[in-house]
Amino acid sequence: MGEFELIQRYFTRPTRHAVLGVGDDCAVLQPAPGMQLAISCDMLVSGRHFFADTDPFCLGHKALAVNLSDLAACGARPLAFTLALALPDANPNWLAPFAAGLLALADAHGCELIGGDTTQGPLNICITVFGEVLAGPALRPGLPATQATLRSAAQVGDDIYVSGTLGDARLALEALQGHVPLDGATLALVRQRLEQPTPRVALGQALRGIASACADISDGLLGDLNHILHRSGVGAQLDTGLVTEKLSSDTLAAAMQTPSAMAPPPHQGANLHHPSYLTYLLAGGDDYELVFTAPPALRDAVDLAGRSSATKVSRVGQIEQAPGLRLVDRNGEPVANTFASFDHFAA
Ligand code: ADP
Ligand code: MG
Repeated sequence: MGEFELIQRYFTRPTRHAVLGVGDDCAVLQPAPGMQLAISCDMLVSGRHFFADTDPFCLGHKALAVNLSDLAACGARPLAFTLALALPDANPNWLAPFAAGLLALADAHGCELIGGDTTQGPLNICITVFGEVLAGPALRPGLPATQATLRSAAQVGDDIYVSGTLGDARLALEALQGHVPLDGATLALVRQRLEQPTPRVALGQALRGIASACADISDGLLGDLNHILHRSGVGAQLDTGLVTEKLSSDTLAAAMQTPSAMAPPPHQGANLHHPSYLTYLLAGGDDYELVFTAPPALRDAVDLAGRSSATKVSRVGQIEQAPGLRLVDRNGEPVANTFASFDHFAA
């Protein structure tokens, strides 16, 4: 199978919304009047972001999911995406399920594949996604002229919220790497969170105009919340008691209580129940939940946004004037922040 047969067979479908899709030198999108394009790009590298033998259906899903998660963080509605693919070989047994996983998620979000590039090389998947958001005006003077939800607009006094639960994906990763023994049923549950994350697209859109700032959690809650703090020029207090109570899945809580999960933690953490528990919750990585801020006056609106998108939303902290991120326990006592979030080039 040659390059063009491969593109034709697996990645060419009639476009429904784009003016022009796969097959020409460029694709053409027509933004609706009064809308802006929100654009994001994420690359998945074999051996770096996923194991080379990862199920191709899951990989197709995840490659698009991580990009849709960025659109969700901005409150954008998905429109279309491009796919740049480096493949070791043109293997139909890999390509068919990869395309199926990719296009199933694409269809679920009405997001069309409109183009890409295909080359031989070490497995590498790079997707650029295009979404639409309402055009300006700026929320406040000094902010960009868009109604996209930004990282830079959190304000002192805002509440901090997180969607869904955190840490399952990290537990799966540790188990697959042999650091933590897990029974088969537990591994299957958390592996699903690692390999087929759910991008919070509906919640992101429901929060537009309600959330003051938002980011998706790809590298761990602390790291991604810190992006909001830095970009907004504010600090925050986070209640680790609420984090443990509200942001842990039952699966993670149970796994952290069995002695079999008591393998030496890869990072030093606080000793709440289990040395790794808070690390998984606060700095787990690969969660693809949303962390966002909103003024206390909009608590009911946040609640409604969660319910209307069938997504759990938990309030776990506040934005403060003083720069930096302070962790406290349920009694307001400080908790040492020794949790490292993921950084590809960290020493
Ligand atoms: P060019 O040489 O102009 O870069 P290509 O020959 O690489 O174009 O690609 C031919 C057409 O197929 C283009 O429309 C391109 O967008 C599309 N395409 C290539 N690879 C992919 C892919 N992996 N998924 C979807 N479309 C693709
Ligand atoms: Mg090309």
